[in-house]
Amino acid sequence: MKTMEAVIGLEVHVQLATRTKIFCSCPNRFGDEPNTNICPTCLGLPGALPVLNRRAVQLAIKAALALEGEIAETMKFDRKNYFYPDLPKGYQISQFDRPLSSGGGITLSNGRRVGLKRIHLEEDAGKLLHTAESLDESRFTRVDLNRAGTPLIEIVTNPDIRTPEEAYEFLKTLKLTLEYCEVSDCNMEEGSLRCDANVSVRPEGSSELGVKIEIKNLNSFKAVQSALRFEIERQKRELRAGRTLVQETRLWDADRKMTRSMRGKEGSEDYRYFPDPDLVSFTVSREVIEEIEREIPELPRLRAARFVEEYGIPETDAGILTSTRALGDFFEEAVRSYPENPKGIANWITAELLREVPAEEMGKREVSPRHLATLVRLIDSRTITGKIAKKIFPEVVREGKDPEKLIEERGLKPISDSAAIEAFCREVIDANPGPVEEYRAGKTATFGWLVGQVMKASKGKADPRSVNEILRRLL
Ligand code: ADP
Ligand code: ZN
Ligand code: MG
Repeated sequence: MKTMEAVIGLEVHVQLATRTKIFCSCPNRFGDEPNTNICPTCLGLPGALPVLNRRAVQLAIKAALALEGEIAETMKFDRKNYFYPDLPKGYQISQFDRPLSSGGGITLSNGRRVGLKRIHLEEDAGKLLHTAESLDESRFTRVDLNRAGTPLIEIVTNPDIRTPEEAYEFLKTLKLTLEYCEVSDCNMEEGSLRCDANVSVRPEGSSELGVKIEIKNLNSFKAVQSALRFEIERQKRELRAGRTLVQETRLWDADRKMTRSMRGKEGSEDYRYFPDPDLVSFTVSREVIEEIEREIPELPRLRAARFVEEYGIPETDAGILTSTRALGDFFEEAVRSYPENPKGIANWITAELLREVPAEEMGKREVSPRHLATLVRLIDSRTITGKIAKKIFPEVVREGKDPEKLIEERGLKPISDSAAIEAFCREVIDANPGPVEEYRAGKTATFGWLVGQVMKASKGKADPRSVNEILRRLL
């Protein structure tokens, strides 16, 4: 049998970071007491009318432009009809035949392009809670409608992805782009970014598509990768055994590391889509689109390239420094405050700062870029040693202390006074006759050890260069 290749397409739902819901003025907020952010419109009470949130349209267009999509001339909304307890209206307001955007895509690091089929705007449904707090409740499922009516974009890729690793990279890049644009917080734990994966296999080189399996219940990008790996192997195995696959939806079971069948094929005809008579279609002018385009910041890849070019830092550092928008902003602000050594600043951020503060938390914590710049300046001017800088660094980060003040308070100013250093050297020479003898007998390696002893005696405060000079002279 010929070797088989996988064909993958992703459907990603992203909640938009609006203040209010898409068709009513209820707060769009995660984590509130269930069923508190609701009104007749998002409850789907008869007679309530939806009013479109302008900001939701703007953010959706912004996301589409950042992903190089083509914005539709007319915006139109359709009803997607189905019954489920989290959907009180009995239909979801979505976009069917005229999505907000078509085309666009993301180019992967291996040069392959993953095209986008469409991006459309729609509303989220409520949430079902199957967890029971008591045995008694275990027969019930509870419904929280706070999420009903949250603005969503659905991003659908073409079946251009070939491996689970490409799917993973696509999702990472997509998330980063949307975060940069401040379109969504893309928090997967809170469900602001959710992904379904479609996968089929076919003989390598074939241009036909195999039978598509949709995988749901993917809670992380790693889960997407693992589920795809499992599913590709399963499909190959089935075909090799001479069985045929049927189009279906399968659920990823993260505990058992396998997918299992959930339901058979469903086609769009089952939803009986039709234009929502409560929402008139409208056009978005060129000027408005251009205005939104101007709001898009420099995107991560371009920013990383500029960091290399403008500041002369290594590519890997630039990649790390642009892994969140806040971290890149932090770096640039530190450089503005001390432009003499961007490389040193980059080094301190990647090697030291990220050990104390994870990149995702950079925007949320009170770490001052000016303080980090000061620290690098103090090392460069040899006001403090690198060792002392490292020692006080956690405090600078955690308590937001100014390093200059901290050095003053703690008496950490280095000892450059040669009389004091000489005293330390003599102390070490007297205390270590053996090693001194070895050194004098020609074992030069002992010298480094002796320098270390002097540094230790001075509690790391002696200027290492002076120690070297003075010790050599005394020996
Ligand atoms: P449907 O109409 O069933 O929702 P779509 O054509 O909208 O199907 O595609 C949904 C997703 O599935 C898209 O991301 C698309 O790229 C992907 N897809 C479609 N056909 C296949 C296939 N045969 N194998 C893998 N992915 C596919
Ligand atoms: Zn409401
Ligand atoms: Mg679809």
